Amino acid sequence: MNFEDYRGVWVFIEEKDGIIAEVALELLGAGRRLADKRKTQLSGVLIGDQVTGLAQTAFEYGADCVYVYDDPIYRFYRTETYMRAMLACVEKYKPEILLYGATSTGKDLASAVATDLPTGLTADTTQLDVEEDTGLLLASRPAFGGNIMATILCKKYRPQMATVRPKVMKALQRVPGRIGEIVEESIPITEEDIRTKVLEIVRATTQRARIDEADIIVSGGKGLGGPAGFQLIHQLAETLGAAVGASRDVVEAGWIGHHHQVGQTGVTVTPKIYFAVGISGAIQHIVGMQNSGLIIAINKDPAAPIFQSCHYGIVGDALEIVPMLIEGFKAA
Ligand code: FAD
Repeated sequence: MNFEDYRGVWVFIEEKDGIIAEVALELLGAGRRLADKRKTQLSGVLIGDQVTGLAQTAFEYGADCVYVYDDPIYRFYRTETYMRAMLACVEKYKPEILLYGATSTGKDLASAVATDLPTGLTADTTQLDVEEDTGLLLASRPAFGGNIMATILCKKYRPQMATVRPKVMKALQRVPGRIGEIVEESIPITEEDIRTKVLEIVRATTQRARIDEADIIVSGGKGLGGPAGFQLIHQLAETLGAAVGASRDVVEAGWIGHHHQVGQTGVTVTPKIYFAVGISGAIQHIVGMQNSGLIIAINKDPAAPIFQSCHYGIVGDALEIVPMLIEGFKAA
């Protein structure tokens, strides 16, 4: 493998329903920083149906060049179609660094691509940098139960690939009218070549905001005592128009589904306001919410670690305090 052949920082530009995913804009911001440090170009790979127009948005968020695979066959995400396009692109253009969002699509695509390339994949990273003298990608992520940050280097293979958690990188300020180069690409692929067919799309129906998009999250932990106590979390969230979050222990106890779990093995969130109710504040939980704008903790134990990570702390019984908050907010 001749490393000299591999150039540039590349980002998979995830798109859904004609809109670029937030995480792709965040990756363009992170990628721009890495590309500037490496004194190289930032490129995007856009795969979808009628997506060429989205390249302009990518330029305005930092891309110099966008490689576009625009074909009805990519209308819905399927591992096989997207993987083939991405593999063709990697083999043709040889990116030095290739980043994907750690979304269900990004994780699926990155791991599929990694299995077909002679390289590895650092999953779920939360920090990215490049080493000054070697130019190697430094991809960091929590390890050993969140107790340490591990920095993973891919010394022997190219491209250096990583998935990056949503909400941990910052998108650049949009520069309207910023221009770049569009390269239209295609590969010979037909429906007959593909084993999977999309028969129907069933959208999740929920009145509640998703935790990765909400401005306010009310999160509950084991301190609520059981599913009945956890209902208070739903009620407070309802009152505030907030999303419901949870600690892993609550999810494992079956009080609420996994997609509400905040933390290292759940979702990373950055709402404007985060309520941590009856949550002890284990490091694995903290890493998923520590960048929230305002953190308010309620815990009956004044020595609970959560009080080290919050802006405001209330020491007391959540089963008494939460009803008072609901009443107070309703009256306000
Ligand atoms: P507990 O630790 O049992 O804490 C309950 C808290 O409630 C205590 O502080 C107690 O003082 C307080 N309390 C009790 N009664 C009341 C009351 N009436 N009113 C107010 N407060 C009360 N955890 C996550 O959350 N997210 C993750 O993604 C995650 N990933 C993990 C990954 C690994 C590899 C490992 C090893 C662990 C992970 N964990 C994760 C688990 C984590 O270590 C903790 O076990 C978990 O966060 C604890 O959940 P909890 O705070 O709800 O429960």
